[in-house]
Amino acid sequence: MTKTFYNCTLFDGATDHSTPDAWFTVDTTTGRLTARGTGQPGPADEQVDFHGQYVMPGFINVHTHITSNPDSFSGSFGASETESAVFGYENLQKLLKSGVTYIRQCGSTYDVDIKLKRLQRDGKLPRTPHIMASGRAFSMTGGHGDGRNAAYLVDSPDEMRKAVRQAFKAGAECIKVMATGGVMTPNDFMEDPQLSVPEMTVAVEEAHHKRRLVAAHAEGNPGIQNALDAGVDSIEHGFYVNEKEAYQMIEQGTYLTPTLIAEWVLPEKGRGILPDWEVKKAADAIDDTYHNLKRAFEIGVKFTCGTDAGTPFNGFDRTPDEFGLLTKVGMTPAQAYQCSSINSAMLLGVSADYGTLEVGKYADFQVLTGDPLADTAAVTQADKAVYLSGRQQF
Ligand SMILES: [Zn+2]
Repeated sequence: MTKTFYNCTLFDGATDHSTPDAWFTVDTTTGRLTARGTGQPGPADEQVDFHGQYVMPGFINVHTHITSNPDSFSGSFGASETESAVFGYENLQKLLKSGVTYIRQCGSTYDVDIKLKRLQRDGKLPRTPHIMASGRAFSMTGGHGDGRNAAYLVDSPDEMRKAVRQAFKAGAECIKVMATGGVMTPNDFMEDPQLSVPEMTVAVEEAHHKRRLVAAHAEGNPGIQNALDAGVDSIEHGFYVNEKEAYQMIEQGTYLTPTLIAEWVLPEKGRGILPDWEVKKAADAIDDTYHNLKRAFEIGVKFTCGTDAGTPFNGFDRTPDEFGLLTKVGMTPAQAYQCSSINSAMLLGVSADYGTLEVGKYADFQVLTGDPLADTAAVTQADKAVYLSGRQQF
């Protein structure tokens, strides 16, 4: 069966412009695009008129925590596995409703994401985005993310090797390591290095043996440098990335996930609610962040789209807000969306199937009333239509 969507302005995510009066056809069995054009489409089993609305790819969010509670300042560390699983499922639906059609997890309590992914594969998790599951993150004892059922605690290369192998045995599809402290934990700071280069090097070695990715939480220095020297695939946050590191990232093909929304919401929403030390940490960092990330982008570092969803005030409906913030580090709206459509798909190794709306790829897209290339606010539309494989989900 074929289904043709027509009468839309199409931004396919592969170029920097959109095509007016466009149509595209989806094979409803495979869920992939089979043809594309402009003007009057040819015959199809089913035709859908978009009445001049705007179509663009679903977002790939490469940094989520579906079991973390954005309304609780301790994340999810108190919840039971059952509570975490139900909550995680709700959050997956929120992500999809906001236009996110693919996520990479960067740490989950109880390995809930791995288990939900299993249910999804069996068709038992309707209206959820594609998931690359991480399971628990890897931290040093007392390090960032050291919470109940939230992390493998490793304190030597040997412990790291064993833990990473255990994670893959449990079904993890990617690895998240903590290279520095962070904003959210008292008594640990962005400039605190945490896992060592030899520890992270082992994680990278084991992951790459299985053609899997390693993401490093690295906010400050020397942790960013340590993670790069260990050969990780992406630097998460990277708020204090310097010039030397930027060039090293280009040379090694390392991506940077700036998670701007996570940092932006803290001083914005947290004053009077969050502990003063946390608001202060975030406010101090924010100006530096824009300066450092702007320089890295100008040098040519490839940015991905990730939001750290699940951190305080940073809900699962906020991914669209990331794009307006990316324009503040010097991107055009098209470049901001390409962090998702091109770069995130490349980082995850799924660009042959996902990311852009080109013939041969899955028809995962969103339909908007406003032009996303004219104003990034268009993608924040709350009642947008969202499709997976050409089938409407919301
Ligand atoms: Zn995170």
